[in-house]
Amino acid sequence: MLNLSVLLEDSARRYPSRDALVLGDTRISYAELDSRSNQVANLLIEHGIEPGDTVAMSFPNVPEFPIVYYGILKAGAVVVPLNIMLKGREIAYHLEDSGAKAYICFEGGPDLPIGEFGRAGFESATQCRVMFVAGHEPGTGTGTGDVSGLEAALAETSDAFSTVVRAPQDIAVILYTSGTTGKPKGAQLSHSNMVMNAVTSNRLFDSNPIRHDTYLVTLPLFHSFGQTVTMNAGLSVGGTLVLLPRFEARAALRLMTDEGITVFAGVPTMYWGLLSALDESVDVDRIAATMRRAISGGAALPVEILTQFSERFGVQILEGYGLSETSPLALFSDPEREPRPGSIGVPVWGIEARLVDTEWNTVTDLDTVGEIAVRGHNVMSGYLGRPEATAEVMRDGWLRTGDLARRDSDGFYYIVDRAKDLIVRGGFNVYPREIEEVLITHAAVSLAAVIGVPHQTHGEEVKAFVILEPGKQVEEAELIAWCRDQMAVYKYPRSIEFTTVLPMTATGKILKRELATKAGRR
Ligand code: AMP
Repeated sequence: MLNLSVLLEDSARRYPSRDALVLGDTRISYAELDSRSNQVANLLIEHGIEPGDTVAMSFPNVPEFPIVYYGILKAGAVVVPLNIMLKGREIAYHLEDSGAKAYICFEGGPDLPIGEFGRAGFESATQCRVMFVAGHEPGTGTGTGDVSGLEAALAETSDAFSTVVRAPQDIAVILYTSGTTGKPKGAQLSHSNMVMNAVTSNRLFDSNPIRHDTYLVTLPLFHSFGQTVTMNAGLSVGGTLVLLPRFEARAALRLMTDEGITVFAGVPTMYWGLLSALDESVDVDRIAATMRRAISGGAALPVEILTQFSERFGVQILEGYGLSETSPLALFSDPEREPRPGSIGVPVWGIEARLVDTEWNTVTDLDTVGEIAVRGHNVMSGYLGRPEATAEVMRDGWLRTGDLARRDSDGFYYIVDRAKDLIVRGGFNVYPREIEEVLITHAAVSLAAVIGVPHQTHGEEVKAFVILEPGKQVEEAELIAWCRDQMAVYKYPRSIEFTTVLPMTATGKILKRELATKAGRR
């Protein structure tokens, strides 16, 4: 049975008393996680949810996330995990676009009153019949629909349930993503897509039930990276997931020490945060003694960070590449060959990759940049209700990713940048990543992000935002001159803005678009 919820059910049968989830002092066993997700499934069915219906959910990395996620799947419904940063109007868009019949969310704290926003969204979503809010007072109904407290509703629901089995090709999860362009679109991922990706992750991380890994789960679970690589993969091998709802480097380092974390998956800015937070109070040796896998993905990992991390923590970071549309894992470091810093590796088992030009012709020249296209068991069936947007990126099972890369003679791929982040200066292509890689090697530079800003004669000009190392100083002119010495004349940044923070997505990716707005581009 290739049902996504089987990943949990099977582990619950084999290791009922193992800790599945840890959040602060709360420990939830596999048996408890499984029975609570059964309650969610029963609750949904009692409220008329049928196989194939969509059910949206908004939760940070708290135990309710997997409880609700697998509950929806067990009921045979399609789960639509929403970004927890969304505001009411955006939630309404997602509920409407996905045709969600029910919405389960958390009330949130004062800074994240998602229950309130969600309620507004819920009232304007025509198909959504019922909404459950965790931490919400029972029985406070509103206008159009039925809003109930989640805990109160579950308390009255049986935990005996037999999963509604779906076909492997049926949609299990819809992940909203902007894709290469435009409004958020729902990437439809089947049970087979998601199960195969979790199994593939485990193969690559060498994780199995006997090893009993302990994962630090701080990548947001609503996003494909955390969802597949930590939650689905980890639970399928009876691992223990230590939840950290909001990434904070010191808290992460403490959990790594206290819980004996063996697997950490993060985006590059998290690795940068961990390195920046190291001081004598951190027992790095103790962390290094248990940590056996460190995985980076979601954005390009600067080689400097990779090198520093392996020096300090004694673990080589393995880099993976993928996107929501590919469940997400598509390429990964080759475990059998020497690591190649700066490379996203090779296609993972069962997945093909090639580079294409704008007309879908294969780029065969080594070292010529092309757009990565992938095909295999990980690729979505298409965007929900958007045949044109789907046709723009898919052909004969191949998906074009919007990412530009080159390949070496051994088949390793190297991302040069997002197609849309490419800067064209005076007719020359400038890949921001290349300049960021150089900037970060300067002794005073801690992190850098490069964008294009409008320019009268060159069309675009190269601009860098830089966070300095604590206590270090460098003048703008000096840093520009330093870059000029190391790269072609059309590439080096003509202006550098020093900053203390860079805008980031909930996943920790640097928001280039927001930087552009800051720089007055849009
Ligand atoms: P998302 O759909 O939010 O997962 O975003 C997918 C995008 O993240 C990809 O299209 C890439 O632009 C970027 N990405 C993911 N992994 C990497 C990586 N290892 N290196 C560079 N960019 C990456």
